[in-house]
Amino acid sequence: MKLVSTRDASRSVSLREGVLAGLAPDGGLYLPERWPQLSPAELESLRGRSFLEVARTVALRLFEETLPRDRIETIVEAALDLDIPLIELSPDTYVLELFHGPTGSFKDTGARFLSRLLPALEPSSDRPVLVVVATSGDTGGAVTHAFRNVEGARAVVLFPKGRVSAVQYEQIVSGGVGDAGVRAVSVEGSFDDCQRLVKESLADGELARKAALTSANSINIGRLLPQIFHFVHAWAQLDRPPRSFHVSVPTGNVGHLVSGVMAQRMGLPVTGLMAATNANDGLVRYIMEGETPSGPSRQTLSNAMDVAIPSNLERLIALFDGDRSKLGALVSAASYTDEDTLRAIEEVHRSSGYLIDPHTAVGWLGLQELRRSGAETGGPKVVLATAHPAKFPDVVEQATGVWPSRPEAWDPFEAGGAGSDAVARISPRMSALRPILDGVIGE
Ligand SMILES: *Cc1c(COP(=O)(O)O)cnc(C)c1O
Repeated sequence: MKLVSTRDASRSVSLREGVLAGLAPDGGLYLPERWPQLSPAELESLRGRSFLEVARTVALRLFEETLPRDRIETIVEAALDLDIPLIELSPDTYVLELFHGPTGSFKDTGARFLSRLLPALEPSSDRPVLVVVATSGDTGGAVTHAFRNVEGARAVVLFPKGRVSAVQYEQIVSGGVGDAGVRAVSVEGSFDDCQRLVKESLADGELARKAALTSANSINIGRLLPQIFHFVHAWAQLDRPPRSFHVSVPTGNVGHLVSGVMAQRMGLPVTGLMAATNANDGLVRYIMEGETPSGPSRQTLSNAMDVAIPSNLERLIALFDGDRSKLGALVSAASYTDEDTLRAIEEVHRSSGYLIDPHTAVGWLGLQELRRSGAETGGPKVVLATAHPAKFPDVVEQATGVWPSRPEAWDPFEAGGAGSDAVARISPRMSALRPILDGVIGE
């Protein structure tokens, strides 16, 4: 597979080069030049199969020109042996539980796949791949869990001191921080300071001689490709091929939504995608009115989607050649307030006894909108459940009076994690971060 930048389709790079670099040299984002196809017969052969089997089939199609078959299979088996059930809440209304990974977030899929893909792509076996990420939320835990003890890979997660939630902090630490290859760094500063330190690290020539440096946020196409499996899996879990098929995606940085469009380009017969956002409605305004999103972001109950200027919007626009009417034929969008979110959590619990987290609640509201809009009558509708309710227990309790119980696997002891002593605390300066990066590369 070859990749092209969203800003210049005339020059292509290999998938290997694009994933290791993250961003294109012209500042654009990479997209596949052509779409490998899943035939109707091949899709039908996936019906009722496990997530692992679905992922294996789609991954072979995506990576067959880049890596040997057995290497692709090893990556899928190591990263994606996850249980992802499709739950029917009411007739033709389904929830795809993408939260059975180690940190209870759909981000586990992309992070775990990337942690194995990166060392497989790096041509020099004596140079480790070092991922440096800034996080104010879910990505941190997903990355420390995904990269622990992965041969040839290292990860350093920077987060602003005191600005991550208790569950998020615990998950970053329980990801085996202090074990070989993973570090968590609490930065005396803001999220922007963390991002600046990531940029400075990636631009550091001396570090680049010792390790292949890259980032692991959703600007990297390596995070988005494995998310295609979610959409194919949802379709494959239905009893028979549906007449029409809609998916509602709780949306922030627009990465997951772009993966849905990519699944459609590969041949998945998805009729419509709903981009459901919280009060950060930049994407909705773009789709409805062509308005360019601007900051600042607003804090909401679904905080992993508090993004004012979604970085993957550039990909979405490029996928439809900048034509908003073409985009609108597949993707609709709607935004919801915190009040709507609480009401949705309460309604689902009252009618089905099922607990959803605030992000999934936004997606569920989008699904109701699809139903109301009438044009889409009939056919199954799936909401992607992006986080486990126990990640946001106080919001769930506020809405329902029920405190969601935590999966046992999250116990820091069960997860095999280190204590909070393992977290380095630094001032927001490269001179403070440098020895930590050198240390982890040298392991
Ligand atoms: C990151 C995240 C989202 C948003 O996904 P994007 O790809 O950024 O649009 C939604 N829900 C949860 C729980 C998340 O962590």
